[in-house]
Amino acid sequence: MSLRAEIIAIGTELLLGEIVNTNASHIARGLASLGINTYHQQVVGDNPARVKQAFEEAYLHADLVITSGGLGPTEDDLSKEMGAEYFGVSMYLDEKARDHIRNYMTLRGRKIPDNNWKQAYLPEGCIPLYNDNGTAPGFILEKDRKILIMLPGPPSEIVPMFDEQVLPYLRSKSAEVMVSRTLHICGMGESAVEEKLHDEMLIMQNPTLAPYAKEGIVDLRITAKAADEETCSRMIAPVESHIRDIFGNLIFGTDADTLPRVVISLLQERGLHLAVAEAALGGKITDKLVSEKGASRVLKGSLIAYANDAKTGLLGVRPETLEAFGAVSEETAREMARGAASAFSAEIALAETGIAEATDSEKPGGMMCFSVYAFGKTWSKTAYYSRRRNSNREMASSAALGFLREVLIADSFPEKNSF
Ligand code: ATP
Repeated sequence: MSLRAEIIAIGTELLLGEIVNTNASHIARGLASLGINTYHQQVVGDNPARVKQAFEEAYLHADLVITSGGLGPTEDDLSKEMGAEYFGVSMYLDEKARDHIRNYMTLRGRKIPDNNWKQAYLPEGCIPLYNDNGTAPGFILEKDRKILIMLPGPPSEIVPMFDEQVLPYLRSKSAEVMVSRTLHICGMGESAVEEKLHDEMLIMQNPTLAPYAKEGIVDLRITAKAADEETCSRMIAPVESHIRDIFGNLIFGTDADTLPRVVISLLQERGLHLAVAEAALGGKITDKLVSEKGASRVLKGSLIAYANDAKTGLLGVRPETLEAFGAVSEETAREMARGAASAFSAEIALAETGIAEATDSEKPGGMMCFSVYAFGKTWSKTAYYSRRRNSNREMASSAALGFLREVLIADSFPEKNSF
């Protein structure tokens, strides 16, 4: 069966903007992972008439409706009753749900308020979804090719209930699965990537191809839908190889790979230890590296040399270099890299010097210079960013790691034997 789903989030707090609808996002991602299409979502206040109307509208487009929230114990929490009414069934006392509520409250030493028992009533003929993390059970109701799944609102309750009980149920209903493969690109902006793939993105329907940009990295997600995972993978393979032909080495990894993790592996494979010198990035490169397991195997240390006298005093940048080319220049970056390698006795170093945002300096805001030093040689590069201060810093820290990777995999990088 190919299902079309609609999500209804019930809760006045959502309408008032007091909380963010993370439940809908969690459910939507779960549905997408199963290849179930969702064309609409609704947010509705906790009001029986409007909840009922939301059901009527949802089943105009969908055969599967999933709700979140509105299963509370008070007299005016009537969403569940509205679901039963829409499906023309009455409510019954589910004894297992009642035992669950009793156990849940007793275990926590809490007195059970009378109205909590209301939560043990469920629509006749439903599949109950017992709640180990709260008192309100959810349920699945199927009738006349329509499915209604009602789930509690608190994320700590709905997430495990959805992942552990609803997803396996839906998997057994759904005829198709969806598989995605993500290729990560560094060194090219989102619009340039899109321009290169413009035609493919317009015509491709299955697999689909979608770019997502974040922090100086562009992800290209290829998603296929088919009867099983193997067929999906077969459909993805030629698209992946076409994209690899276009972007080559700019693709630094796939799926769970991250740029710092890839850099750490490259350094480790080559038996190299890294030193870092930062200025405008204030430790962001280092932070990215140490966020990954295994950083201690390759990272010797890092220096943040913000002021000119820190660059000369700590990293041995020559005053003449600063005078002639300025603090933000490839020449200064090269001397910083050299100085960092020597300060930490590292075989390789990465340095950055830049202007996070426009100042009255003659150099443009967002100008960042990077340099890599290894075995007596230096490489350098300048990049320009035009966003706000911290966005520029975020993008530049990825670019710096991307540059280090570029140098490490370049033919010009000295072979281990020639050191
Ligand atoms: P309870 O049984 O605790 O009364 P409920 O099923 O009636 O829960 P709500 O009262 O609608 O659910 O929501 C309970 C809490 O769950 C909200 O205060 C909010 O913190 C959180 N919540 C509800 N809906 C959402 C949502 N769509 N996304 C994120 N959080 C939500």
